[in-house]
Amino acid sequence: MPHPPEAPPPALRLRLDRAALAANWRALDRLSGEASAGAAVKADAYGLGVAQVAPVLVQTGCRDFFVAHVGEAADLLAHVPPERISVLHGPLTEADAAFCRAAGVKPVLNSLPQIARWKEAGGGPCDLMVDSGINRLGLEMRHLDDPAPAGLETDICMSHLASADEDVPQNARQLARFGEIRAAVRARRYSLANSAGIALGADYHADLTRPGLALYGGIPRRELARDIAQVAYPEAAVLQVRELGAGDSVGYNATFVADRPMRVGVIALGYADGYLRCWSGNGRFEWQGRELPALGRVSMDMTVIDLTAAPDCGEGDWVTAAYDPVASAAATGLSQYELFTLLGKRFGRE
Ligand SMILES: *Cc1c(COP(=O)(O)O)cnc(C)c1O
Repeated sequence: MPHPPEAPPPALRLRLDRAALAANWRALDRLSGEASAGAAVKADAYGLGVAQVAPVLVQTGCRDFFVAHVGEAADLLAHVPPERISVLHGPLTEADAAFCRAAGVKPVLNSLPQIARWKEAGGGPCDLMVDSGINRLGLEMRHLDDPAPAGLETDICMSHLASADEDVPQNARQLARFGEIRAAVRARRYSLANSAGIALGADYHADLTRPGLALYGGIPRRELARDIAQVAYPEAAVLQVRELGAGDSVGYNATFVADRPMRVGVIALGYADGYLRCWSGNGRFEWQGRELPALGRVSMDMTVIDLTAAPDCGEGDWVTAAYDPVASAAATGLSQYELFTLLGKRFGRE
């Protein structure tokens, strides 16, 4: 079989503002006070591309990285020393434990069975998650006096906040429990705060913070707005330009009908790329400083935009989606987390 020719770049790309990404990490590290900031890079760095994001963070000074799945640790090993990678889901199987041992990455142990599995695999440096009230993953506090966790080589002892983006009593309650956890668990370092937790103040910072969302430009709490900048800009090429007459409709189910002659562009971005149908009639694009509204339904691979404000924009030109995380969440009803992690596999990510 002859080699197939290499495919040319796709007609959609995710532009990353690397300077903004670096500045966001530096801001979160500074806001973490005495603690240092790590980085949650699970889910392909929240959809932005771990191969693009990790080198920038490493170069900026970030040392500790958190992924969910063992397979995500494997992808990160090209960029980060293994002993600085934490696998949040921990070892579900013997194969998971064997991989962590062989690669030298740390499983985050979440339960007595996971602790036993890690010890059976031979043990070694690991992290420990203790639940302080989110009731998701983590060792139950009533198991803290079990001899099993005491016998571990624990680097980071962590817990996770459930409602750090809100001002609710649960935050102080979890902080108090985290104090009990710290007193009971011997570890090199302690960690509690995610992005929103960093804004809750020094009490929540411990030794290491674990921002994800805010690194990528998300703003879970108002206090962070001043320091966090947008990082991700979805861009798509105009595939075709059409002239509509008054009364012509656009797209599936004809949800937009032109009331005048107008010039429109068909761009290579659709719901298969994470630009969901909640953007229908709601999305906006930008070209050379001009605003171009989306028209009609978003399709699987395409969206139609109004080129009235940009008569010189044509086939092959690239437009940028309005994708400010806070405004986009308000416009679509999606969470800022979803807006990032939705971004599909077809984007060029140079
Ligand atoms: C995803 C995750 C984070 C990062 O949370 P953000 O809200 O995105 O900052 C931190 N810690 C744990 C355990 C996580 O699962």
